Amino acid sequence: MTEYEVIIGLETHIQLNTITKVFCSCKADSWIDLPNTNICPVCCGLPGVLPVLNKLVVEKATLLAEAMHAETRSLSFFDRKNYFYPDLPKGFQISQFDMSLAHGGYLDLPMPQGYTRHVTIHKLHIEEDAGKTVNQHGRRYIDFNRCGVPLVEMVTGPDLRSADEAAQYLIRLRQLLRWVGVSEADMEKGHLRCDANVSIRPVGATHLNPKTEIKNVNSIDAVRNAILKEFDRQVREVEAGRRIESWTLEWDEDRGVLRKMRSKETEADYRYFREPDLLPIRLTDEWKHDILRNLPELPLVRRERFVKQYGLPEYDADILTSERSLSDYFEAAVKNYGGDPKKISNWLMNDVLRMLNERGVSADQLKLTPRSLAEILKLIDAGTINNSTGKALLEKVETTGRSPAEIVASEGLAKVSDDSAIRKVCQEILAENPKEVESYKSGKVTLIGWFVGQVMKKMRGKADASLARTIFEELLQ
Ligand SMILES: [Zn+2]
Repeated sequence: MTEYEVIIGLETHIQLNTITKVFCSCKADSWIDLPNTNICPVCCGLPGVLPVLNKLVVEKATLLAEAMHAETRSLSFFDRKNYFYPDLPKGFQISQFDMSLAHGGYLDLPMPQGYTRHVTIHKLHIEEDAGKTVNQHGRRYIDFNRCGVPLVEMVTGPDLRSADEAAQYLIRLRQLLRWVGVSEADMEKGHLRCDANVSIRPVGATHLNPKTEIKNVNSIDAVRNAILKEFDRQVREVEAGRRIESWTLEWDEDRGVLRKMRSKETEADYRYFREPDLLPIRLTDEWKHDILRNLPELPLVRRERFVKQYGLPEYDADILTSERSLSDYFEAAVKNYGGDPKKISNWLMNDVLRMLNERGVSADQLKLTPRSLAEILKLIDAGTINNSTGKALLEKVETTGRSPAEIVASEGLAKVSDDSAIRKVCQEILAENPKEVESYKSGKVTLIGWFVGQVMKKMRGKADASLARTIFEELLQ
């Protein structure tokens, strides 16, 4: 039997996080607003209006292009993409066709299996969004709020080879968009939308077969499921001797099925021509230089640096660079601490991440600053407090905003290392528990842990546990 491989390319629409729309001053994000409340004659395409380009859209798109290693053009043009659909009031969409802001570029995907997939970018351009059609109670409603919302459309080459790789592409792209600060990239809110082009071929073949386009795959799971379904369907068709036709399919998330929408349009169907109402974008070297001053170190570069510079395992480096503010937090804490970076990493991954998840905040919003975390670790290293007091301090600092040292002093949390004080408590415990002493002496030496636990309980966790253990061993001989 022939074995097939799947060939996938992804088209993504990224909503830029500007305050206003791309060609008018209406509010761009309408997620919580009533339909048709953020509209004006420009974005509704009334006759006689003129679009005015939002400069910030060009700047954010340029940042994104650079983050994708794409090449920007110093001169690019807007074009009209003509099609007729009820939610497109002008009858055309302002987009960029042959001379877009950027071209080329790539995104590398480190896969959990250990290899890296290199995904090329074929197209990167600015365009305006269309409205939204809602079918309800047998009627069709149209919301124009989304008309004129700034988008970047990005199209990959046919480089992805599995549903998992496609999912990973979206995960890494979402990370990058948030990292660079150009989009909220919330798929649920439509800030990041995805269509998947899928074809199959026998393993080992190098030609490309006709592909189908799956629309509306707007969550990571949907992308994975829809591609797997479509792969199976194409294999069945080919095995049955039928040809794959270039259909456009729609993914029905609720039912988990693909439906044929239409035979796919070609670019000729759109009759592109230059937008006569807008000047070309002139991205001078000076302007570009200015924009790129805001480009941070990229996540994968930082991930690699964390491994090299701090000797972190790749696993740690990956988690710590999942989000920019978390990685900044890590570096600031390491700097304040001065000790082993792996220790900071452990505390972040075990305790601080849990705090972030529970509170639904990002690392830069914590009252537990990198300096406070470092201070707690230093208090432990110096023997002033024990580990469990340190862990308890995390919450205390976060809720009160006070410094760890202050809390230790005012609540008397410092570890008791005074031999005579601990010895006294140990003796009390032995006197109170003759049965346990008996069984210890008859060979159940593991009870030592229980004895130490009793000391910690009596001394409210402040005793030096290893000292207590030594004293018990001595007393029980
Ligand atoms: Zn408007």
